[in-house]
Amino acid sequence: MGRSDCRGKRMSGRDPIRAINLGWPALAARLCVCLLVLSATMLSGPASGALKDESKRVVILHSFGRDFRPWGHYAKAIREQLDRLSPWQLDIQDHSLITARSSDENPEPAFVAYLNTLNSGHAADIVISIGAPAANFVQRNRARVFAATPLVLTAVEQRRIQSSSLSDNDAPVAVAHDFPRSFETILRVLPGTKRIVVINGASPNEKFWLGELRKEAALLGDKVEFVWYDDLSFQDILKKCAALPPDTAIFWHLMNVDATGVVYEGDAALQQLHAVSNAPIFSYDDGFFGKEIVGGPMHSVIDLSRLTANVAIRILGGEKPSDIRPPALGYADPKFDWREMRRWGISESNLPAGSVVMFRQPGIWEEYIWQISLIASVILIQGALIGGLLHERRRRHLAEVESRQRLAELAHLNRYSAVGELTASVAHELNQPLGAILTNAETAELMLKGASPDIDEVREILADIRRDDERASEVIRRLRGVLKKTPYEMKYIDLNETVRQVIGFVTAMAHGRNIVLKCGTTSADLNVKGDAVQLQQVVLNLIINAMDAISEAEAKEREISVTTNLSGASAEIRISDTGPGIATSDLKNVFDPFFTTKPQGMGMGLAIVRTIVEAHHGQISAANQSSGGALFTIRLPIARGRSTST
Ligand code: ADP
Repeated sequence: MGRSDCRGKRMSGRDPIRAINLGWPALAARLCVCLLVLSATMLSGPASGALKDESKRVVILHSFGRDFRPWGHYAKAIREQLDRLSPWQLDIQDHSLITARSSDENPEPAFVAYLNTLNSGHAADIVISIGAPAANFVQRNRARVFAATPLVLTAVEQRRIQSSSLSDNDAPVAVAHDFPRSFETILRVLPGTKRIVVINGASPNEKFWLGELRKEAALLGDKVEFVWYDDLSFQDILKKCAALPPDTAIFWHLMNVDATGVVYEGDAALQQLHAVSNAPIFSYDDGFFGKEIVGGPMHSVIDLSRLTANVAIRILGGEKPSDIRPPALGYADPKFDWREMRRWGISESNLPAGSVVMFRQPGIWEEYIWQISLIASVILIQGALIGGLLHERRRRHLAEVESRQRLAELAHLNRYSAVGELTASVAHELNQPLGAILTNAETAELMLKGASPDIDEVREILADIRRDDERASEVIRRLRGVLKKTPYEMKYIDLNETVRQVIGFVTAMAHGRNIVLKCGTTSADLNVKGDAVQLQQVVLNLIINAMDAISEAEAKEREISVTTNLSGASAEIRISDTGPGIATSDLKNVFDPFFTTKPQGMGMGLAIVRTIVEAHHGQISAANQSSGGALFTIRLPIARGRSTST
């Protein structure tokens, strides 16, 4: 049929069954095919251009009809091959032998007369009979029809040709069936097979083959049981085949006409059987192969069609038919349908050596190998990238935690040094309430020694003592608050309040140094997200630096101003002083670690301040005021949508 499948796979090794059954005659037949193909190709080569104008009339005689399987496939393939090889224009006529369907030969004379009438005007150049019934018809009527026309008898088993009646004008292109090989193959690929059901019709041709099949089945002895349904209608056969016992295989021979005379054209019968049968179907001719048949060694439609077309072309070219008598063609290499193999659980290891597996459906992996590989590599690359990024993110996070911890430690040390500078101020702050407590306690003691102490007065004195004690406690609490070692903690805070707390803390110190500390906080909400203790430290460091600058320069104007503002989306703190300012060349260095102009300075205060501000996503800048003195400006992003706490 010319069906091809580039996915077919040849089995390796030698085929023991074929080695026994396909001996030298079959090999000689194949060699012959090659030679014939070669000669016909040469014939159709250079001369073809000149011969194209000539026309040859070809009559194709079908056994049952144009669409009966397997001959329909042969006829189609032969026409294709003729068209391919012919150097002449071909006028091909098809005629079907209806009488082959029954043993009634009465209508035959009328058919002969019809053919003669057709042939009388313009005689056929060659007749090609397809199948045994057509071959037999022409042989029977050779003297009455196409008497002088060369005849090619093809697609016919060698046993169906009457060799004695072959004339010099006849060229048989026969095949040789080998049913025992087909049965042995079934037992090989399905070793558990206990019975083989043979499907065969009831036309005269099929009845002939029933006898042959039975004879050849007997050669297998008791290896397997054979079941024959030749006396049943095809519909009854279908019912039987739908409920076959396990370990049964079906051997499909022919079903042109069933026992009740119903004719099955085309693919219908085999398709129906395949649809209902509960057993695998095998056959001997690849005209049946392609959907329903498991496979095996089979006649090749394409091989026989090529050979037939070559013989016909040679005869049309003038060769004598009697000189072209190729030996009967045996089975081609075994071939199997992968889909049926899967359906019936047939392992490839059971196939005869040299088998070709066809219609293999590629798995999803085989079919989409490129797409899958591409997607897999993209996923892998993406996975690697994501993994890398996650790793980097984690490393960065760890580094951030580490640096914050270092910053917290450094800041803590820095606070110790800042608070060291506040000692005098703290002592002053504590001294006042402690002194008042002492005086009040002594006064109360004296009053209580009197004859009639004024209890109300004493009560007031005690209240004063309590108030002064609370004041002293507050000073100590604030000191501990600044000095406590807290982990870096981001919270929503009110920056105005933070600034006010620092001012409260350093007011006494400023006072002690004779410096006026002015504070002006904005009425706008300055909600920022940050660490309250660290931001306090920023303001504290800058105020202490300002006090140092004023003290060192012994400035006349001794004033520090701390203000807050809302500037766009930023909270702003400005700390200015009336000191000497920063030398212009130092302005770019003041935030560098270890930069100091003080004899006892560490040069870490401003470096820590900048690190804290940047850790809060803010900015700090230093400048000199036109009126003199330094101005430090801090900007921190305003946090939206949260209430603050300090
Ligand atoms: P330290 O106070 O130990 O020197 P800082 O980092 O706090 O370290 O300050 C670095 C330097 O910046 C100071 O030595 C000083 O020269 C300069 N500086 C800081 N604040 C002021 C200011 N308000 N006026 C003038 N110079 C200042």
